[in-house]
Amino acid sequence: MEPETLDKYIQAGKIAAEALNYGKSLIKSGAKVKEVLEKVEAKIEQLGGKPAFPAQISLNEFAAHCCSDALDETTLKDQVVKLDVGVHIDGCIADTALTVDLSGKYGDLVKASREALDNTLKIIKPGVTLGEIGRMIHETITKAGFSPIKNLSGHGLGEFTIHASPSVPNFDNRNKNVLKEGDVIAIEPFASTGSGMVQESSPATVFTLIKDSGVRDPITRNILKEIKTYHKLPFAKRWLEQKFGANKTNFALKQLIVAECLHQHPPLFDSARGIVSQAEHSVIVGEKTIVFTRV
Ligand code: MN
Ligand code: MN
Repeated sequence: MEPETLDKYIQAGKIAAEALNYGKSLIKSGAKVKEVLEKVEAKIEQLGGKPAFPAQISLNEFAAHCCSDALDETTLKDQVVKLDVGVHIDGCIADTALTVDLSGKYGDLVKASREALDNTLKIIKPGVTLGEIGRMIHETITKAGFSPIKNLSGHGLGEFTIHASPSVPNFDNRNKNVLKEGDVIAIEPFASTGSGMVQESSPATVFTLIKDSGVRDPITRNILKEIKTYHKLPFAKRWLEQKFGANKTNFALKQLIVAECLHQHPPLFDSARGIVSQAEHSVIVGEKTIVFTRV
């Protein structure tokens, strides 16, 4: 890896870690989810980064992809709260997440995903197979009495690409492909009290641009111009609502979905409505693996 690129990852990781920790300090009973997310995103910009995706808070049985729209009035109470933060510097992405238990009942569940992450980080070096990583996550979580979520995975981090190859399993899928020096990947174990399989809910409030043609009306084209500034990284409906208002945003998103310009990222929840915890770090693989979202 070029030293200049390495510097960008390190910088993105530092900002992500600081924004995540700041967000953690805001996760308290009575706090508004939307305000926490806005403050975390503002912190990222203030520290000189850009969000690689909208900050997200997913509660209880929801594992991922929950992101306030402009109207969201959700207030935190006695829930299990996952905060997921992504930062990029010139397309070099850091992705990190943690769980806060406001219920006081799920400490072991929170610990299970965190220990699965810690144990996995210790074995990551060139030559380790994806299956071995999955097995470590699976064993740690099942020993604690919970299920890993099998249809969510860690992933490579490419330039301006959140979900690059390889896909890093949360169970032993016997994949014999190996990590090599310089690979940049996010490891993200999820532990669940439920089925360990997530399914999609609706509506999506996070989207990715996959095509930028085929819409004609001026409102949609104007909003598309804004979306193009996100470099085909995921964006929040809320970001557009703040700039263009709810009516124009809803109209444009509808047009863009019909024209198949957007990939939707709907909220994902455990299919048995079990409670879910998550922990995530981003690493650069090497004989001395760098966990660049860890302060
Ligand atoms: Mn993440
Ligand atoms: Mn991730």
